[in-house]
Amino acid sequence: MQISSFHPPVRTLMGPGPSDVNPRILEAMSRPTIGHLDPVFVSMMDEMKALLQFAFQTQNALTMPVSGPGSAGMETCFVNLVEPGDTVIVCQNGVFGGRMKENVERCGATAVMVEDPWGRAVDPHKLEDALKAHPEARLVAFVHAETSTGAQSDAKTLAEIAHNHDALVIMDAVTSLGGTPVMIDDWQIDAVYSGTQKCLSCTPGLSPVSFGEQALNRIKHRKTKVQSWFMDLNLVMGYWGSGAKRAYHHTAPINALYGLHEALVILQEEGLEQAWARHARMHQALKAGFEAMGLRFVVPEAERLPQLNAISIPQGVDEAAVRAQLLQDYDLEIGAGLGAMSGKIWRVGLMGFGANPKNVRLCLGALEDVLSRMKAPIERGAALAAADRVLG
Ligand SMILES: *Cc1c(COP(=O)(O)O)cnc(C)c1O
Repeated sequence: MQISSFHPPVRTLMGPGPSDVNPRILEAMSRPTIGHLDPVFVSMMDEMKALLQFAFQTQNALTMPVSGPGSAGMETCFVNLVEPGDTVIVCQNGVFGGRMKENVERCGATAVMVEDPWGRAVDPHKLEDALKAHPEARLVAFVHAETSTGAQSDAKTLAEIAHNHDALVIMDAVTSLGGTPVMIDDWQIDAVYSGTQKCLSCTPGLSPVSFGEQALNRIKHRKTKVQSWFMDLNLVMGYWGSGAKRAYHHTAPINALYGLHEALVILQEEGLEQAWARHARMHQALKAGFEAMGLRFVVPEAERLPQLNAISIPQGVDEAAVRAQLLQDYDLEIGAGLGAMSGKIWRVGLMGFGANPKNVRLCLGALEDVLSRMKAPIERGAALAAADRVLG
């Protein structure tokens, strides 16, 4: 076999991530690689921190991208803030809360689970009850935007309850950052991690994180060493920390960081409020189209994420065949269900650059065509007009 350069097809990515990457970001990533201690690169790192502080709406000095995907950011939060023997309250309403539990247990701590139905927000009353039953709990972890179901939780209220019981908070903002409001200082989130490939529309592989004063204090006063050398923030801070001498820790992914820098510049140019409003409007248009077709949303309206639309699969439809046909005929990727939702739902992402009228129309038209050809029980001919009434 003769192996030559790899040329992927051009797809439209409307699944749970990665999302369509803005071409400006791909262009930025192709610029010359320089050393990770080059003074020019170091000045870009300072800009990166300022841009991430803006995106997270925080003054936290320790705000930086972890070299690794969202899961690496998740693990960075847990391994630094959890010590063996701790009790951690984990709210679970989908797949990612389950991963938090895994992290807690691998740190040698006990996870007390607060369970809510998949497709619903986390219930603050259940968190309150769990904290009352477990006064020894030092930490509360929850997912702000549960990508496996499309549900959004009330982060500010959950953090307030945790703090009333002297627990710190870890929040997963992988899918929320850039798509819906994430206000780290206002909500007093002690530690947060996100990802680059969802509403920031960057390539996968980096995880922006931010840690507040109280979290840093806890990390500095640990009784035990962080079990991960790579993720130990006490060491990473020598490279990324404020006033640090930028000593070698690991080789930063230079070109990937050019991409994230560009993604954040694009977000700043548009403005946070404007980006949130755009996601909300594209969601309204897609929703109008889906409902005109007779497709049903999984999550109650008040708890829905605009950037992740989970819909039930119509009766008698082979859901995998539909996705395969969309990919083949329209180069369009939508997501399947994950975990308990596997085979029951589709997940349609409207994330970052991909949250635009063209993608909304493409998705509605393509889905209507493929479902019609498969003789699915849907209303035909109404979806695009319904979306256009929202898009104007
Ligand atoms: C995608 C996602 C992750 C994991 O991010 P990776 O970059 O795939 O490691 C974690 N949490 C949530 C809510 C996500 O949507």
